[in-house]
Amino acid sequence: MSASLWTRCNNCLRILYKQDILDNLSVCPACNFHFRISAAERLKMLFDDGKYTLFDQNIYPVDSLHFGNNQEYSQKLEESEEHSSLPEAVINAEGAIGGIKIIVSAMDFGFMGGSMGSVVGEKITRAVEKALRERVPVIIISSSGGARMQEGALSLMQMMKTSSALARLDQAKIPYISVITDPTTGGVTASFAMLGDINIAEPNALIGFAGPRVIEQTIKEKLPKGFQRSEFLLEHGMLDDVVSRKNLRNYLIKALRLFLNQPQ
Ligand SMILES: [Zn+2]
Repeated sequence: MSASLWTRCNNCLRILYKQDILDNLSVCPACNFHFRISAAERLKMLFDDGKYTLFDQNIYPVDSLHFGNNQEYSQKLEESEEHSSLPEAVINAEGAIGGIKIIVSAMDFGFMGGSMGSVVGEKITRAVEKALRERVPVIIISSSGGARMQEGALSLMQMMKTSSALARLDQAKIPYISVITDPTTGGVTASFAMLGDINIAEPNALIGFAGPRVIEQTIKEKLPKGFQRSEFLLEHGMLDDVVSRKNLRNYLIKALRLFLNQPQ
């Protein structure tokens, strides 16, 4: 028996057969804990028959600020590309969900913590602009530690760029659904992740701007239990719904039909 066939759930600490978790969309069959998954796994789950076409695959990040003493950022980019087999922390795809033509940008936490630099901002903007040209709804699946430190102010400018592209989409009355997954923080929460026509999240996802320690030090108060988790945010009006991974595809189809005024 190979040890790699088994894994432990981070939440309920049960030892589980790995295949059982994979067969359950990477959700713990015992306690419903949602494991983090890659952007590619995410797209496969959402699109009809798991089929989609990638676009904007040939845009690569550069170390334009020459961050660090010894090309630290360039090296980090190379390592991340090798490790994740991705050119950047987001992938753009088009295809159909429930027969509805759709554009999806999916972030991958495995590439430098899903941080948003110039290329992530550019790719999200391009996905939204393509949606605008083709009059197709957009879904953005967020998973990010926030703006990418190594690109300084260039990263912060992506908040404005993505937000203004989404504002144009809104003016054209084309639907945008934001799906927020664990974890989504910083500049991504403060821009496109919270700008959906509906903003939904997976259960127990960490969603916030600054970390709890920074907030506690600033306001000099203890934060309540479950603060910055999906269920807490839903209760306080910051989210429209919390949706389990196994219901996500059907939920999105239903929401898209509603937006597009198609029969359910
Ligand atoms: Zn579990």
